[in-house]
Amino acid sequence: MGYEFYKVEPPPGVSFEDWMSWKWQYRNSLSTAEQFQQYMELSEDQVLAFEKARASFNIRVTPYYAALAGGSDPVPGIQRILMPDLKELSLGAQQMLDPLGENKNRPTERIVHRYPDRVLFMVTDFCSVYCRYCTRKHFTGKDQAFPSKDEYTRALDYIANHSEIREVILSGGDPLTLGDARLEKVLSDVQQIPHVDLVRIGSRIPTVAPMRISEELVNIFRRNKPVYFMAHFNHPREITQESAHALELLVDNGVPVFNQMVLLNGVNNHPALVYALSRRLLSLRVKPYYMFQVDPSEGTDHLRTSIEQSESIQKSLWGKASGLAMPNLSLDIPDGGGKAPLYPDFEIHRTQHSRTYTGWDGVTAEYINPAKETLIKPDDVSFYENETPS
Ligand SMILES: *Cc1c(COP(=O)(O)O)cnc(C)c1O
Ligand code: SF4
Repeated sequence: MGYEFYKVEPPPGVSFEDWMSWKWQYRNSLSTAEQFQQYMELSEDQVLAFEKARASFNIRVTPYYAALAGGSDPVPGIQRILMPDLKELSLGAQQMLDPLGENKNRPTERIVHRYPDRVLFMVTDFCSVYCRYCTRKHFTGKDQAFPSKDEYTRALDYIANHSEIREVILSGGDPLTLGDARLEKVLSDVQQIPHVDLVRIGSRIPTVAPMRISEELVNIFRRNKPVYFMAHFNHPREITQESAHALELLVDNGVPVFNQMVLLNGVNNHPALVYALSRRLLSLRVKPYYMFQVDPSEGTDHLRTSIEQSESIQKSLWGKASGLAMPNLSLDIPDGGGKAPLYPDFEIHRTQHSRTYTGWDGVTAEYINPAKETLIKPDDVSFYENETPS
């Protein structure tokens, strides 16, 4: 039972102790072409891209993630995630600085409130890896780090003053680039607001610096429960022994973990990779949650799939793969329209009283509704109705 996960070896001259320290990983993160070249081969164009692309989006990677993508057994697909590319500079089919229209849904500097019962709280703009497809290039990597005291107070006040908010999603940047003490303060400040049910943490740390997930950190989550964890793995090879350990530490300590992946051209845009990733995650008790279409942020055309290709990847797995293994395919409607789920359509015919479907493996049948008059309203609706977002 179980998978044999890849082990990322430190380069010669780096002690195991340094390698397994997340602070060492941050202090030694790579930013220049020369530093990248210690882990992977770069073409002339790639070296040039370091000079040209930095102005539009920061460049950084942890030695750990560089060793995973490069080293003696390189994964070219994963290198496309972290490596600047000259294609980032050319005009694409669509390029928006703020594809999710977040700036118009920002009631205060660090809050994005797009849906009634949940908000994003952008606690830092710092990431330990700058993914070239990042949707939030308007914010991420601008070295604003932790909010100022006033920004922080305004964010907390906003949440406290909006009783419809049930979930606060710590986002960024990567919230786990904050130190333990700061993170615990944020969690406890947010959890103290009476109408907040839970906090979600969206982080790429289990992929790019899994040693950050320590006993101390999960104890902080435990003390401030319920905390849900949204991980971000895109490729089965990213789940290494170190990542598997980090994920198990979270789940063993009562933190439910979900995964949000992005379908990336030349990285994971094939059903075999999506399925392999899902099975590995499930074996570690992580539920595949979303499979996103890349947002048309600036310089991402070369990393985007077409909607049709994404749908065909989904359709080819539908039914054959366990429902637990199927992430929800979704795209963000440009300019702040919110998420649009994409589902395969099985309906082939509809009448006033019935619908006819052909299922994933070709079985066709009709579902007939009960008579309209039989539908009744439960007696106790009014008891719960005022909790419902409107
Ligand atoms: C995606 C997103 C959420 C969370 O949506 P879920 O479907 O609940 O995971 C919340 N706020 C914003 C602005 C988002 O883009
Ligand atoms: S970790 Fe997330 S926020 Fe940071 S660069 Fe990658 S996609 Fe953007």
